[in-house]
Amino acid sequence: MKLTGECFCGAISYKLTGKLRDARSCHCSRCRKAFSSQASAYALVEPADFSWQQGQHLLSSYVGDHGFGYQFCSQCGSTLCGTFEGSIHGITLGCLNEDPQIEIGRHIFVGSKASWEVIPESVVQYAEDPPAGDS
Ligand SMILES: [Zn+2]
Ligand SMILES: [Zn+2]
Repeated sequence: MKLTGECFCGAISYKLTGKLRDARSCHCSRCRKAFSSQASAYALVEPADFSWQQGQHLLSSYVGDHGFGYQFCSQCGSTLCGTFEGSIHGITLGCLNEDPQIEIGRHIFVGSKASWEVIPESVVQYAEDPPAGDS
């Protein structure tokens, strides 16, 4: 499966050649601010499966605590991918152009979600991040 993604203004685009996995939405206060939203929505990707197609010179990066960061378009502000210690480890679902044929499997850090967000009870949710392998 080949997937592409781009930022809101279209200046930056990328291509994925492998499968996305572990799609999740994180409701922690850091993700809310990084995504300017009620939560982040992203999936993990093998760095070798990811390549920028155009506009890479317009990318800005931010690295926060513990080596986690993200890259975003300096023109329109779309967050395109998450990084860990300098390499891409996740891509934001909102910037994909095609149907990635995965669904968000878990909502994490729901314990620190915003008071104004209502999450349906039927959604799989965790107060924090569940241990690896528990999915
Ligand atoms: Zn842009
Ligand atoms: Zn988070």
